[in-house]
Amino acid sequence: MPIFASKTECDDQLRQRIKEISGQEFQKCFQCGTCSGSCPMKEHINVFPRRVMALLQLGQKKALEEANTPWICAACHVCLVRCPRSIDIPRVMEAIRQVKLRENLDQVDPRRIEKEKIAELPQIAMVAGLRKFTS
Ligand code: SF4
Ligand code: SF4
Repeated sequence: MPIFASKTECDDQLRQRIKEISGQEFQKCFQCGTCSGSCPMKEHINVFPRRVMALLQLGQKKALEEANTPWICAACHVCLVRCPRSIDIPRVMEAIRQVKLRENLDQVDPRRIEKEKIAELPQIAMVAGLRKFTS
């Protein structure tokens, strides 16, 4: 699937913030795709990690907001271990999440979680989930 990048939507401030928060030089990504091929969550994400790096390089804020990848990423570090550019991709994913959470925007509204689900889920999963998905 091609990436449709818009010059008018290029957000340099977003690029800078992600770089500052993650400490990662994602511009070094040369789109080899190793991260995407290695990601155990690829069936659940709508934008592969390689594409997330490309969207970041192009400062495509809207497309990044529509990607569920930073939220689904399990921080398993497989992509980091295999990346020929040693980019800490899980850190980049975390930085993308932080940009949203620091604006006090939750990814999940705890009030909307069904009571039955809450009863079923292990407490530790609830705590970890709320820490990851809420500001
Ligand atoms: S493995 Fe590294 S260099 Fe290759 S596409 Fe992923 S982030 Fe880019
Ligand atoms: S750290 Fe995240 S993006 Fe990287 S392989 Fe694991 S789940 Fe996929």
